[in-house]
Amino acid sequence: MKRIVVLCFVIALMHPVYALESRANYDDELSIIDKSFNSSPEKVESLIDNLLSSWEELTEQQQASLMVYQAIQKSYKGDYWSSKELLLQVQKYKVTDELLISIYQYQTANLIALRQYTEAFDLMAKYLEKISSIHDIETKAGAYVRLSNLALNLDANEELRKYSSQALLFAKGTNAKLYCFSLILSAYADYSEFKYSDAKEGFNQSKNFCDNNELPLFGFVAEKGLAEIAIKTDDFENANRLLNNALAGYKKFSYKTEITSVYALLAKTNFRLSQYSQAEEFANKVMDLSDDPSHIVYKAIAAKVLSQRYFELKQYQLAYDYLESHQYYTNLIHDDTKAKANAYQMAKFKHQEQAREIALLNQERQLVEAQKELDQADRTNDVMIMTMLVGSVIFLSLFLLYSHRQKLRYRKLALTDRLTGVYNRGAGQDFAENEFVQVCMRKAHFSVVVLDLDLFKNINDSFGHATGDWTLKHVVSVIKPLIRDSDILTRMGGEEFALFLPYSCEQTALKIAERCKDAIEAIDTKYSGHLFNITASFGVSSNNREDLSLDPVLKRADIALYASKHSGRNRVTLYTPELELQCKSDETQRSLIFN
Ligand code: GH3
Ligand code: MG
Ligand code: MG
Repeated sequence: MKRIVVLCFVIALMHPVYALESRANYDDELSIIDKSFNSSPEKVESLIDNLLSSWEELTEQQQASLMVYQAIQKSYKGDYWSSKELLLQVQKYKVTDELLISIYQYQTANLIALRQYTEAFDLMAKYLEKISSIHDIETKAGAYVRLSNLALNLDANEELRKYSSQALLFAKGTNAKLYCFSLILSAYADYSEFKYSDAKEGFNQSKNFCDNNELPLFGFVAEKGLAEIAIKTDDFENANRLLNNALAGYKKFSYKTEITSVYALLAKTNFRLSQYSQAEEFANKVMDLSDDPSHIVYKAIAAKVLSQRYFELKQYQLAYDYLESHQYYTNLIHDDTKAKANAYQMAKFKHQEQAREIALLNQERQLVEAQKELDQADRTNDVMIMTMLVGSVIFLSLFLLYSHRQKLRYRKLALTDRLTGVYNRGAGQDFAENEFVQVCMRKAHFSVVVLDLDLFKNINDSFGHATGDWTLKHVVSVIKPLIRDSDILTRMGGEEFALFLPYSCEQTALKIAERCKDAIEAIDTKYSGHLFNITASFGVSSNNREDLSLDPVLKRADIALYASKHSGRNRVTLYTPELELQCKSDETQRSLIFN
């Protein structure tokens, strides 16, 4: 029964599909074709043919629009295949969203007419998807209205309810015509759910609204809806009245399909009202139609009426024939309903599968993203660990280097004299001792030069301790260039130094001592801020075969130094055994004097 409304809506919803930006004269012609679908459908074909002769001059948009009109025309003529093919072709053109929606709408209508319900549902899904990209509210409302109509024709009640409420929502206050449709479709949604009183209210509201907005055709659609409810509630008298009203209206607009549907319903109501001749008349009008799928519902109704009528007339053979005919059409309807239901279930299943797949894909995507984040975190960790490791290694190396340097520094501090930077007594003597052992093993020479600054106390006393320090540092600085790297200069204490000279014989040692004496004497003291003389006394000794350690050599050098002091200072004395005797006698004399 619902199919009754389909073509009416398709025609009524026709809207200009031409592209405004295209060339004006052809646009006008397209506009005329568009309007003619409503006003004078018989002219449409020649108008289309006329424009087809200028095909090459049309823009791509105009060609697309013309093809859509051609397809609609073919669909009206019942050539759904050609219409479908044309709409498939036109989809290859670059078309506007609005035109694409029209294409989807008409194509779905074709698919329904061709009973290709699965494809129809698929296309509806695409249609729905396209709607979401539309921003213009009016266009959106129109799209939902058409979609609801398709849902109605596919017995997709749930969708009809959803889309018609969307249509109502978007059309309210936007476009009266669309709102009028939406009201009718919402009433049909109630009707499909057997909510007859709601549906009745809806159709009444639709009728009022559509009539008040000068949309009489849709007032008749609403009236037919009311009639259908009246039939359902066995109010045949009212139904008959409403149907007659609708029929008169439809006739004014020459809506053949709607007229056929009303004929079928009138056959039924008249029969119920025992107006048999009228019933027979309406039923025969329907039965004269072809077995086109769009007529089946009406023919089933008409055949039943005729069967009952002939039964009343006791013309049993005819009654039986019509009953069989009724059975035949009912079976077709049943098959059709089953096909729709299957397609619907499949579409639902597919939709749920898709939703499930999308959910799964989303989950997977989330998982992959989580994994990526984890990997990233791992990489960051690795980098951090590497950085820390490298950092630690660098830090450790630096630390080791630093501590090594510190150690060296401390070692140097421990080994050297802070004022002059030369070895202190302990270190100098240790190194010298080691060297001495090596030298002895090689049976080589080892000489020692000891020197003591002369009357140093006087410098301190006369010019201060700082000048004394300055003197000590300068003495070292003038000695250093005169000795080899392997020689060991040691501050033995106070203003006394020792030069340990491995592999140096007495003569070499004497020469070095002389040079040092001269260098010290040559120090220019004016840089200390004072003018004074610096001199030193030297004692020189070398190893002999009996020497098992450095000590005796050092002791002998001391004796020689002592001799230098005693013989007037600022001189170099080489140790001789006589000096030792001399030294001993001096000590004896001193002990005699002091004792
Ligand atoms: P002589 O010629 O007999 O060696 O006489 P002298 O004055 O050099 O010897 P003495 O032993 O009487 O005096 C040494 C002085 O050296 C005593 C001490 O104050 C001074 N002295 C020792 N170490 C340092 C030092 O590091 N800096 C300074 N400024 N003076 C020092
Ligand atoms: Mg001294
Ligand atoms: Mg001295």
